[in-house]
Formats: sequence, C-alpha cells, structure tokens
Amino acid sequence: MKLPKTKNRFCPKCKKHTEQTVLIAKSMGRSKTHPMSRGSKGRMRRRGLGRGYGNKGRLSKGAVSSWSMTGAKSSKKVDLRFKCKICGKTSVQYQGFRVKRPEFKQ
Ligand SMILES: [Zn+2]
Repeated sequence: MKLPKTKNRFCPKCKKHTEQTVLIAKSMGRSKTHPMSRGSKGRMRRRGLGRGYGNKGRLSKGAVSSWSMTGAKSSKKVDLRFKCKICGKTSVQYQGFRVKRPEFKQ
C-alpha cells in the first residue's frame, strides 16, 4: 500500500493543523536504551513466585510460534509516527490498519 510522505494533521503541541512527515516506526528490542520493553526473563520469574506447584497453567499454551492460528496472516498493522515540521514533536496514529507491504509514494 502506498502511503503519503507528508500529511496535514493536528499537532497537540502547536494545537493546530500542521504539515507532518509520515514515518514507519521501527520495532525496538530490549537494550540499554530501551530497558522497559516487555517480555523479560525477570518478568517470567516473578510470575512464578506465587504459592503452589508449577506455573499454574500459565505456560501450558506454549510459545506463540506453536499456536496453529499464528503465521497464517500475510498482513501486519503498521505503526505510523507523524513528525511535525514546525515544532519537531512526534505523535502516534490513533487507529492502526492492516497492510501487506507499506511503502511511501514517490
Ligand atoms: Zn507541532
């Protein structure tokens, strides 16, 4: 799907419609600069700290890769960011939409 490079959109900082560049956000993994990303070993350990035996069925569903429903979809929701050309602030889109291959118009 072709996406526009720029879009006139409301900027919460400027409190008016401004021209904003459209960006596709890159997925960020866990690192020193992004330590708050979800899915950590410590979180899994804390989930098992309650009383009782085993993991209380939390892990019985298995990993996402083992589910039969996953992997069938060929499209993903795009994570668009809009950067205001006046104040430079970035805002996120309100409603995501499914796209097979997002690309910008020339
Ligand atoms: Zn702005």
